[in-house]
Amino acid sequence: MLKNDMLEQWDRENFFHPSTHLAEFARGNAPHRVITGGQGCHIEDREGHRLLDAFAGLYCVNVGYGRQDIADAIAEQAKELAYYHAYVGHGTEASITLSKMILDRAPDHMSKVYFGLSGSDANETNIKLVWYYNNILGRPEKKKIISRWRGYHGSGLMTGSLTGLELFHKKFDLPLAQVIHTEAPYYYRRPDLAMSEEQFTAHCVSELEALIEREGADTIAAFIGEPVLGTGGIVPPPAGYWEAIQEVLAKHDILLIADEVVTGFGRLGSMFGSMHYDLKPDLITIAKGLTSAYAPLSGSIVSDKMWKVLEQGTDENGPIGHGWTYSAHPIGAAAGVANLKLIDELDLVTNAGRNGAYFNKVMRDAVGEHANVGEVRGEGMLCAVEFVEDKDSRTFFDASRKVGPSIAAALLEEGIIARAMPQGDIIGYAPPFCLTEAEADEIAGKSAKAVAKVL
Ligand code: PLP
Repeated sequence: MLKNDMLEQWDRENFFHPSTHLAEFARGNAPHRVITGGQGCHIEDREGHRLLDAFAGLYCVNVGYGRQDIADAIAEQAKELAYYHAYVGHGTEASITLSKMILDRAPDHMSKVYFGLSGSDANETNIKLVWYYNNILGRPEKKKIISRWRGYHGSGLMTGSLTGLELFHKKFDLPLAQVIHTEAPYYYRRPDLAMSEEQFTAHCVSELEALIEREGADTIAAFIGEPVLGTGGIVPPPAGYWEAIQEVLAKHDILLIADEVVTGFGRLGSMFGSMHYDLKPDLITIAKGLTSAYAPLSGSIVSDKMWKVLEQGTDENGPIGHGWTYSAHPIGAAAGVANLKLIDELDLVTNAGRNGAYFNKVMRDAVGEHANVGEVRGEGMLCAVEFVEDKDSRTFFDASRKVGPSIAAALLEEGIIARAMPQGDIIGYAPPFCLTEAEADEIAGKSAKAVAKVL
């Protein structure tokens, strides 16, 4: 085994880490950590620290670490057939089985799955499918995509544009012109504190209608949204939000893309967020929970309505000019099949709902009354704590105080991994679905300690 100091030197000299302060990392001021193993909700690093991962990696290791069944399925697939492509009608038993398993679980009106590798590329695919669809229908002007401020949809050129967080636009010349943003359904940050949830929903709807009016409905192709805003702060929607938004979209013939990269396969305690909030999307983006991150795999689930037009398009234009070398990669597909079986066998979606509700309750009990905790919110196995300088006026702390990162660092000292979300002083939690009540209690207790240490 390499000596720790050698590995650190190689890391700092050679490795371009995503979402990292590059200069601080090179100077040795940002952490270098080598993760070596994981079991259940815990991971271990090279120094032998055992940490409770309350963010399931990047909210993706939904079934928990160290699952032998998935590892075996991957190993068997690699030995039998590590790779063959999916172009011009090719498939493997794993990829064909997985497409059937996904559609058995998805809302009834969904029809087909296109496989990619990451949430970002699946959303790129979705935008291309939307454009192809409108071109086939003879409406080439209907191309703009509406996204929400604080939405997160990836960090490619188009998906980074869809993402509504400043960090992902700054100095990258994003967003691209085809993307327009509307109000985030963020009740805690409503423009007028006197508004009820229903009034705030009506406000979001009127903002959307005004945007559509300004741009012209005949220029707008689709609306993309996460059922619960994730990276933008873990924000469940206000009462009646999705029902009202879908009415507006239907009125203007605007497609709905439900980005279920985080919520797909159980995180809210329902198989899909679309079922949880009664969405009828035209496209659903899936990734993370599809394989619980045991191998990279994503997907675009296409509705009957869109599928018919896409199919007709290939009669008019020939084969669809879209595909990745690794679409439906057999190893990813084998991981997906084993992962979805395990979720069923262990009834992990039910556990995500039940223990997620328990986790949210103990978090509210542990930190909700603190003078600087503005809100504890969540849904299923998602929870966020938002910190404010003043509870009544909801004022933000000065950014230089780095309240979010300091609390995440204090939690890490307690052996808990939670995430300082990129915008605002918000700590996010998204544990694996196998979280026990005892582990929920531990996270809540140690969160209270970390908050008391920093504030
Ligand atoms: N969409 C949502 C809702 C996400 O949370 C993410 C990643 O966190 C993505 C898309 C992008 O997925 P990936 O990082 O796999 O490209």
